[in-house]
Amino acid sequence: LSVGVVRESLPGERRVALVPKLVERLVGRKLRVLVESGAGEGVLLADEVFEQAGAEMGDAWSADIVLKVAPPTPAEVSRLKKGSVLIGFLKPLSDVDATAALDKAGVTSFAMESIPRITRAQAMDALSSQSSVAGYRSVLLAAERLTRFFPMLTTAAGTMPPAKVLVLGAGVAGLQALATAKRLGSRPTGYDVRPEVAEQVRSVGASWLDLGIEAVGEGGYARELTEDERAEQQRRLTEATTKFDVVITTALVPGRRAPTLVTAEAVRGMPAGGVVVDLAGESGGNCELTEPGKEVVAHDVTICSPLNLAAEMPGHASELYARNLTELVELLVDADGRLALDFSDEIVAGACVAGRERGES
Ligand code: NAD
Repeated sequence: LSVGVVRESLPGERRVALVPKLVERLVGRKLRVLVESGAGEGVLLADEVFEQAGAEMGDAWSADIVLKVAPPTPAEVSRLKKGSVLIGFLKPLSDVDATAALDKAGVTSFAMESIPRITRAQAMDALSSQSSVAGYRSVLLAAERLTRFFPMLTTAAGTMPPAKVLVLGAGVAGLQALATAKRLGSRPTGYDVRPEVAEQVRSVGASWLDLGIEAVGEGGYARELTEDERAEQQRRLTEATTKFDVVITTALVPGRRAPTLVTAEAVRGMPAGGVVVDLAGESGGNCELTEPGKEVVAHDVTICSPLNLAAEMPGHASELYARNLTELVELLVDADGRLALDFSDEIVAGACVAGRERGES
């Protein structure tokens, strides 16, 4: 059975789906690893490094299992072999056309976004691994744009107070942002509608902002707020944000538009030179003034909405992602290196977004 590692074509996508250390592991599982020349370019991994780990250079698109980071373009879908398996971030909830095209092409497709978030699947949880990278990078971006220091500094020329950082949405990305903001010496505060995360926020050394609105949904995720709750949340947050130099937003509700947490009025109330980093841009953004993918200045506040922050730190992002993928591949093959798709397994069934009938036959 062959596993293909292809070159990513999405502009700015510097990650690669497999790294040499994990090529070795798959080769040890009796799999042939085919790498498209230049696949590791974005992470400065030369073809030879993959070869030394036991991979062969070749037509990775014709492999039995193809590993990817970003969803394939229509032209790329046509390069996949009928009856093959594709694994990657496939945006099953937003890119319905691509999923339909994969189904039509007879490609059994597994979306990393759809892996159930159960304990047994933790090592495959690519949403978490890449969110950690994005959360970390969001703080570095904010620190770079802020016109002030992050840590408190006592100097002969005076004492500078620490920056105050508010993180809205304390899931995986938010918690990493809070921890990073703390390490950089700022005074972080976290907020979420799931009250159980208060303890996690405090455990990374941040304060907890309690606005008295709870919205726990299914599967450990937040639910969408009602109209009244939303208005109340915006009102209370507008009051709270005036005290912060930096606001980092990470709030998402699966399959929905991201909630608006930072209104234009809230931005107007922030100190001049302040920064908003909105990690929810791809789902419409958490800040009313966000322009997804752009950096804008409004009311003397810089609002950044990077769309693919994990790809800006491709080294460790790829290593973590490759580990997530490898764990899933190992679940899909048997001890003799043959494809063995067991759809009675909730991880296999949950992650499969196209071509299940073909996979079962
Ligand atoms: P996410 O990216 O979907 O959302 C980010 C955060 O935004 C969440 O904490 C959510 O509660 C919050 N949010 C949504 N709407 C909001 C609003 N209106 N106001 C304020 N905050 C709002 O979530 P995530 O980071 O991917 O993970 C969420 C949950 O999944 C966490 O409980 C996490 O521990 C859990 N999880 C479990 C596993 C596992 O058991 N394998 C793995 C990863 C994550």
